[in-house]
Amino acid sequence: MKYKLKELLEKEINGNIYIDENMNKHTYFKTGGPADLFVEPESTESLIKTLKILNESKFDYYIIGNGTNLLISDKGYKGAVVKIGNKLNSITVNGTKIKTGAGTLLSNLAKETCRRGLSGLEFASGIPGFVGGAVAMNAGAYHGEMKDVIDYVVCLDKNNNILKYNNEEMNFRYRKSRVKDEDLIVLEIGLILEEGNVEEIKERIDLLTRLRKEKQPVEMPSAGSTFKRPEKGYAAKLIEDAGLKGLRFGDAMVSDKHSGFLVNCGRASTDEILALMRLVREKVYETYNIELEPEVKIIGEEF
Ligand SMILES: Cc1cc2nc3c(=O)[nH]c(=O)nc-3n(C[C@H](O)[C@H](O)[C@H](O)COP(=O)(O)OP(=O)(O)OC[C@H]3O[C@@H](n4cnc5c(N)ncnc54)[C@H](O)[C@@H]3O)c2cc1C
Repeated sequence: MKYKLKELLEKEINGNIYIDENMNKHTYFKTGGPADLFVEPESTESLIKTLKILNESKFDYYIIGNGTNLLISDKGYKGAVVKIGNKLNSITVNGTKIKTGAGTLLSNLAKETCRRGLSGLEFASGIPGFVGGAVAMNAGAYHGEMKDVIDYVVCLDKNNNILKYNNEEMNFRYRKSRVKDEDLIVLEIGLILEEGNVEEIKERIDLLTRLRKEKQPVEMPSAGSTFKRPEKGYAAKLIEDAGLKGLRFGDAMVSDKHSGFLVNCGRASTDEILALMRLVREKVYETYNIELEPEVKIIGEEF
């Protein structure tokens, strides 16, 4: 089936199409086995055609962006991984309104809006995902989140209908949105920023970049914060206070710089990272009676 689909897609779309592509090339954690089929469409039209073909063939698929919040099974993914990659990265600016593609790097968008003296995206400058993934996850940092700057989101639903939602209709919550509730696919995003001063915006971005580098293991493969913030306390503090900072399982480690991050010290597998996540969760539960929930999206494995 995968070979037939590859042939069909090659006739119908522009983009990269591979069989048995290793997912460790597409995840920030650098782990994950092969996807039966990997498709990276080069345009929105090709993306829509790809999904139509996969839907009609009843072939399972999973959408990824920059892979910065993903943990994919070592056994890989039985189906197609569709990457909304950086070919879908247009940025159009009209006054304080921005229109951008789902494959734009958040950091590039923050840089570009800073250059134009537009304020509001400083919080996002160090988040390594694409804008589509950031909308899906309602990514946030340093008291800002995507919800604060989104005007509208254009999505595709499972029946290939193109839908446009305003901010309220997106139902943004902590690291969640309508995208995740309804398995939508983000195509285009409209943002509203505020007029500001280029130097001040740059200063704020530089400050947040320094803070990140000081406090987070940004130089190591990870998925950022592995666990969500629990109702009481902070995951990193609970993990550190439970004595787990620096704990290793194979090449997976609780970062000794920031206990909220599990990192890959070299050749960790997804299995090792998951085993360490389970150890951390058990110990925190034993010590504080608090259940940590993964923030990272786990594909192809139970947790
Ligand atoms: C070093 C580091 C620091 C980080 N810091 C932060 C932080 O400060 N704050 C924060 O919130 N996160 C942080 N993250 C996590 C991550 O960067 C964000 O969650 C980011 O928004 C994910 O975007 P992505 O494109 O990489 O998505 P992926 O990891 O590829 O996917 C994440 C989820 O979004 C879905 N998705 C992706 N693109 C689309 C789309 N176009 N349409 C529909 N669904 C889509 C996927 O199906 C998946 O469920 C960090 C990660 C790392 C590695």
